[in-house]
Amino acid sequence: MSKFREIFRGKARYVTVRAESDKTEPKREVPDGLWTKCPQCRELLYNKDLERNLYVCDKCGFHFRIGGRIRLAQLVDDLEAFEEYDATLVTTNPLNFPQYEEKLARDRAKTGNLDAIITGCGPIGGIPAVLIVMDFMFMGGSMGSVVGERVARAFERAAERRLPVVAVSASGGARMQEGILSLMQMQKTVAAVERFSRKGLLYISVLTDSTTAGVFGSFASLGDINLAEPGATIGFAGQRVIEETIRKAIPPKLQKAETVFANGFIDRIVPRPELKGEIVKLLTWHGYGRERDSKPKGTSAGAAAPPKTAPLEDDVPPQARANGHAQGFAERGQQR
Ligand SMILES: [Zn+2]
Repeated sequence: MSKFREIFRGKARYVTVRAESDKTEPKREVPDGLWTKCPQCRELLYNKDLERNLYVCDKCGFHFRIGGRIRLAQLVDDLEAFEEYDATLVTTNPLNFPQYEEKLARDRAKTGNLDAIITGCGPIGGIPAVLIVMDFMFMGGSMGSVVGERVARAFERAAERRLPVVAVSASGGARMQEGILSLMQMQKTVAAVERFSRKGLLYISVLTDSTTAGVFGSFASLGDINLAEPGATIGFAGQRVIEETIRKAIPPKLQKAETVFANGFIDRIVPRPELKGEIVKLLTWHGYGRERDSKPKGTSAGAAAPPKTAPLEDDVPPQARANGHAQGFAERGQQR
């Protein structure tokens, strides 16, 4: 119990699960300056080369963490053609959590985003797709009400427009500062994926370093095809939490993408320089980008009616969520 008391005492603390590697390795955010030392092989890398190499070490293949905007630029053909969804959605600090607003302001300045996510529609290899890109640099990519709502709305729009979804996750889990509202995003996003999936449309999920806890435990692990970047930390509970619970050391690479792949939870590990090509190939194989690119996979041109399925018990129509205040978010300019 003392642990729970500590959580609410004094300074605000994150309870998002931290990857073990965070404690032992140097910071891996893309830095300023001319040179960067690779945390894996210790080589000095010229930043211009690193950028050209999509922030992958050309000596050892180490994948640096990248921000959401950089990721978006790597995947979309033309950022000018990217139509961002719900870019004005902001959290209302529903629990009045101490210092939450300061942390949000700091990370908004740092990343240029209002929250830990970018959603929208843009062409990938000439194929229109809905993109969901998470930003680990924004409060550890944690999922609060804004992240969950934008994920849910992205899937709803993709279903309406009969477009595929490509989600790139990087998250430490639910956002403690929004308490139970954060946990509710797991249910909401999973329901949105399910409704989307029942339309017979394709969802490709890309798990990057690190994707853990509530995001891994909800929409990120539900792709029709789940890809991962090499060396990414992927899992539900963090190494420390597992070890404290079972009182045993777990193998050091248990939560690396390679181990997760070997155990069948990931379909393929794709190095970043090949990621866009792989996504385009998968979209093409599923019939997108051809003359029928607005039609779902496996549906003939004449079949207009979707297959009859039982309604989801937790089905919440978008209009029922229109009053965002009760859900912890608001359009910018309407904050309380
Ligand atoms: Zn290296």
